[in-house]
Amino acid sequence: EPLDLPLPWNNRFAGLGEAFYAPLQPTPLPAPYWVGTSASAARWAGLDANHLDSPEVLQALTGNRLLQGSEPLASVYSGHQFGQWAGQLGDGRAILLGELNGLEVQLKGAGLTPFSRMGDGRAVLRSSIREFLASEAMYGLGIPTSRALCVTGSDAPVRRETVETAAVVTRLAPSFIRFGHFEHFCHHGMPGELKILADFVIDHYYPDCRTDARWNGNPYVALLAAVTERTAHMVAHWQAVGFCHGVMNTDNMSILGLTIDYGPFQFMDAYDPAHICNHSDTGGRYAFYKQPNVAYWNLFCLGQAMMPLIDEQEHAIAALETFKDIYPRAFAGRMAAKLGFSEVQVAHKPVIEGILKLLAADKVDFSIFWRRLSHWVRDEASAGDSVRDLFLDRAGFDTWLLSYSELLAHIPQAMAADLMLKSNPKYVLRNHLGEQAIQAARQKDFSMVADLLKVLETPYDEHIEFDAWAGFPPDWAAHISISCSS
Ligand code: AMP
Ligand code: MG
Ligand code: MG
Repeated sequence: EPLDLPLPWNNRFAGLGEAFYAPLQPTPLPAPYWVGTSASAARWAGLDANHLDSPEVLQALTGNRLLQGSEPLASVYSGHQFGQWAGQLGDGRAILLGELNGLEVQLKGAGLTPFSRMGDGRAVLRSSIREFLASEAMYGLGIPTSRALCVTGSDAPVRRETVETAAVVTRLAPSFIRFGHFEHFCHHGMPGELKILADFVIDHYYPDCRTDARWNGNPYVALLAAVTERTAHMVAHWQAVGFCHGVMNTDNMSILGLTIDYGPFQFMDAYDPAHICNHSDTGGRYAFYKQPNVAYWNLFCLGQAMMPLIDEQEHAIAALETFKDIYPRAFAGRMAAKLGFSEVQVAHKPVIEGILKLLAADKVDFSIFWRRLSHWVRDEASAGDSVRDLFLDRAGFDTWLLSYSELLAHIPQAMAADLMLKSNPKYVLRNHLGEQAIQAARQKDFSMVADLLKVLETPYDEHIEFDAWAGFPPDWAAHISISCSS
C-alpha cells in the first residue's frame, strides 16, 4: 500500500515517453536502518528534516513502500567507457522516483532494472557512505554536484571482492541526464527522440539557449556551448581542490555540469599530478592531470551525438573550442584565489606554475599546504616556518615565496588572507577519513558519518574539535585500494 505522504511529486522525465526509460518499482531491502542523513539536503528538496527520522520514510527510501504520486523508472543511456564505445548502459541500479521542488530524487542501489546487465542492482555500504559524504562535501566546497539526502543500510549480503552489506543512497540533482543519454539516441539512429531530449534539457535547464543570438541562432549549438562552459568550470574547481573523479566515462558526465557518480574518487593527499585514484584504471586514462583533457574529449562525444541537431560541423566545433579559453581562465581564477588574489593578472601565472611544480616535486600534502599558506599570509609571525617545513627543497620554496610576497605586497594582506581562508578548505574527505567512518558504520556506529558530514558541510571553518581530521594522513592511507567495484 503506497505511503500517503503529501509530497508534491512531479514526474517530468516520465513524460518523455517509453523510449527513454522502463517504469518499475524499487526492490525491497530487508530490515533497513538509517546510516546517515543530511538535513541541509532535505531542506534543499523542500522536505521536512523530521522525515529523516520517520520509520515510514525509511521504508519508502529502501523500496519497501511506494510513495503516493511517484512514478519510479530507470532511464536508458549509452556511453564511452575508458575511451571505448560501450553500447547501452542505463540506470542499472538507480531508480528515479520523480521530482520534488525541481530536484530529481534517485535511489541508488534499489535493485535490478532492465539495464543491470551483469550487475546485481545493489550498492554496498562502503561506497554508499563515500558517495553520501562526497556529494555533501563537494557542495560544501561550492563545487557543482549532485547531493545526497541520506544513506540507508541493511544487513543483506552483497558480493563484491568480498561479501559486504547493502545500502541505498538517496541522491538529488535538478537532473541526472548524462552525455550518454544523447549518445544513446544518436547511436541508435533516433533523431526524433534526440530532439525531444535536447528540447527537454533546454526548456527545463537552459532556457536562455532558445534566445541566444550567438551560435547562428541554433539553440542546440548554444546548448553545447553552455554545457561546455559549465563542464570547464566544474573541472577547474576539481583541479583547484585536488579532486580526482576516477571514472570520467561519458555516462558519468552530467548535462548540467554537475559532479555525479561518486565511485573510486579521491581528494588527493600528497600532490601528484600523475595520481590515479581508481585501481581499475590501469592505463591511467583518468589520472588527475588528465581530467581537463578528458572533459574536453567527453564534450566532443556529446557534440558528435548532437550532430543530427546541428547543421554545420564547424558550428559544433566552435562551441566546443570555447573550452580552450574558458578552462584555463577558470583554473587560473581558482588558483589566484587560493593565493589571495581576487583577479588574475599576467604576473600570477609563473607564481601559480612555480608552486605547483614545487608541490609536485616534493609530493607535498595539497590541502595542508594551502591552508598553512593562508595562515602564513594572515599572520606570518604565528605561522612561523610551518609552510616552509613542508618542502625538502627549501631553497626552491624560499625563491618562490619571495616572488609571491612581491605580488602580495600590492594588495591588503588581510584581504588576501580572508580570500585564501575561503578558497583553501581546512577539511576534505580524505580516503582514510571515509574509511574510518565506514569501519565504524559496519559496527553500527554511525557517529563518525554524522561528524564528518558536519565538518565537510562547512570545510572552510575551523571546527577545532576535529583538528586531527585536517592533519596528515596515516601511513595506511596510501594502501587503501579503491576500484570501480561498488
Ligand atoms: P559506473 O562505472 O559506476 O558509472 O557504472 C556503469 C554502468 O554499470 C551503469 O550503467 C551502472 O548503472 C551499471 N552498474 C554499476 N554497478 C552496478 C550494479 N551493482 N548493478 C547493476 N548495474 C550496475
Ligand atoms: Mg555511472
Ligand atoms: Mg558508479
